[in-house]
Amino acid sequence: MATFLFHDLIYGPIHSRRLGNSLGINLLPTEKKYCNFNCIYCECGANLPGKIGSLSKREDVKNALAEKLKTLHSEGIQVDSITFAGNGEPTIHPDFQGVIDDTIETRNKYFPNAKISVLSNATRICDEKTVNALKKVDNCILKLDSAINETAKAIDRPVGGYSVENTVSLLKQFGGKFVLQTMFLKGVVGGKTIDNTTDTEVDAWLKIVEELRPETVMIYTIDRDTPEKNLEKATHEDLEKIRQRVEKLGIKITVSE
Ligand code: SF4
Repeated sequence: MATFLFHDLIYGPIHSRRLGNSLGINLLPTEKKYCNFNCIYCECGANLPGKIGSLSKREDVKNALAEKLKTLHSEGIQVDSITFAGNGEPTIHPDFQGVIDDTIETRNKYFPNAKISVLSNATRICDEKTVNALKKVDNCILKLDSAINETAKAIDRPVGGYSVENTVSLLKQFGGKFVLQTMFLKGVVGGKTIDNTTDTEVDAWLKIVEELRPETVMIYTIDRDTPEKNLEKATHEDLEKIRQRVEKLGIKITVSE
């Protein structure tokens, strides 16, 4: 299976094990990935050089979502989550806060019980407007792939500056009202072994989980093709051990294998 892009602004609904019947919103270009990470496991593929296509305007997002929700409502199709994901990092969109406000309004009109979910790599939580927007959504799902800088950088390959310490300190703004998402995997990239399932990695990561006490921890492993080819899934045993350790802390955890 190849890596893939979402070619529409609104896609789905698709069934998600974690979010139920999920209607996706892709605020990024439809023909190219646009992200300030370049994760070795990204299902959208690697970042490519060249121009980034244009981003959808706030008004267009609002209208397209309203039209789609209206249709789904009239067809009796359930929507459990309106999910911002797509071809990159949604919070990069310059009108992210406005888009979230519009989405809340439209959701309330057609599917008041649907959750609004944002999958973000947490790189923009240094920006007050982004944080305010993320605090308004039901499922604010923020990524932290390792507690160790060298590993986090090797897995996520941030385009700009990145540090675990800074990210953790900024995550504290949410007062635990967020979902911490971590991809566990192993492999060799550029001749270097990467494995965030080792005891050293998991011990350090658990310390941060305990410090942040998110409302849920979401762990997962590779499910589709990845831009780097020498990667392996974390094993069932690896994930199960992590699950038990998080539960011992009294924190809810979901595991997707
Ligand atoms: S943060 Fe998400 S979209 Fe960006 S490179 Fe990583 S997996 Fe892909």
